[in-house]
Amino acid sequence: MSGAPSSGGTRTTAPYAARHETSRGRRYPEPVSEHRTEYQRDRDRVIHSNAFRRLVYKTQVFVNHEGDLYRTRVTHSMEVAQIGRSIARALALDEDLTEAISLAHDLGHTPFGHAGQDALNECMREYGGFEHNLQSLRVVDEIEERYADFPGLNLTYEAREGILKHCSVNNARQLGELGQRFIERRQPGLEAQLANLADEIAYNNHDVDDGLRAGLIEVDDLRDVRLFARHHDAVRAAYPELAPRRMIHEVIRRMINEVVLDVIDTSEERIARAGVASIDDVRAADGPLIAMSAVVHADHVALKHFLGEHVYRHYRVLRMTTKARRVLRDLFDALFDDPRLLPEEYADNARAAEAELGKAGRARAVADYVAGMTDRFAMLEHRRLFDPGERT
Ligand code: MG
Repeated sequence: MSGAPSSGGTRTTAPYAARHETSRGRRYPEPVSEHRTEYQRDRDRVIHSNAFRRLVYKTQVFVNHEGDLYRTRVTHSMEVAQIGRSIARALALDEDLTEAISLAHDLGHTPFGHAGQDALNECMREYGGFEHNLQSLRVVDEIEERYADFPGLNLTYEAREGILKHCSVNNARQLGELGQRFIERRQPGLEAQLANLADEIAYNNHDVDDGLRAGLIEVDDLRDVRLFARHHDAVRAAYPELAPRRMIHEVIRRMINEVVLDVIDTSEERIARAGVASIDDVRAADGPLIAMSAVVHADHVALKHFLGEHVYRHYRVLRMTTKARRVLRDLFDALFDDPRLLPEEYADNARAAEAELGKAGRARAVADYVAGMTDRFAMLEHRRLFDPGERT
């Protein structure tokens, strides 16, 4: 099995890459496609899903109506996929699988970014909690309705393994084979490790851009961050007359490039040192093999802390997140207290889930409904439920 290169689409992948020919398969077996690999099909299924289209109107950091230039979850996911694919190609990993995981990683995100996720987790505290990674898996396994023969998108094991990047041990116990690695502390395949890291690289850098655009931070503040200062110095020296916007974009471009090149070099080294010859070797390795070097990782973390302090905890962002938490809490409480207020299809789901699992079933059905909302739909639904002047 290992040793011979695999043909991932038209490209040749390394023996330690995920290989669609030896995939652990789909939950519901399907005939193979004549022209597409299994991972291409995964990627295509994600793109055609309802949940993917809704990401257009879901917040990354800035609420969708704040401006047209800010990242939303869909543009964030596309940037993750771009970074992931570039690195996958350099390391001879499966690009399609990397892209599938990248595009699907946030499908379970609530409206209003992390504030929404925290609020829903609080609402669900007595009923098993709410984790957006687990919800992404629920979306592709259960919630999407696109096939006559099975629920969900029926993705491959390798894609599902990548989508579930974190999971509490309690929840992992209920997931069978897929949850096993969180209990045994094993690694996922390299494409999954890569999509996870590409996510971090993408948001760390685009939140600098969005934070500057929103006026939450200034270039002068950012100069305290080594990674930024280093490239800012270089760009200023080479192009002293450059207009501020282009200056920022040139700096961010170089920051991403430095981290990406570092991930490629560091991962190549780690893969060689670990001597892995198959995805099973990768899964059994001591730690992740896709990684930044210690030096670049320290820079990356410093930037992340800077953003935490100056962007995510900026009073204007906090006002937004406070409102968002209130809206989600109101929606959940109203619909949980009286599920008859849900649209018929969802009310039916809630009734069926409650008959099977009691109040926890009802809560999960309400959480699925609320989590699926876009920012603007959540605001509209809130007015419909609480503002007597709004049409219902
Ligand atoms: Mg993300």
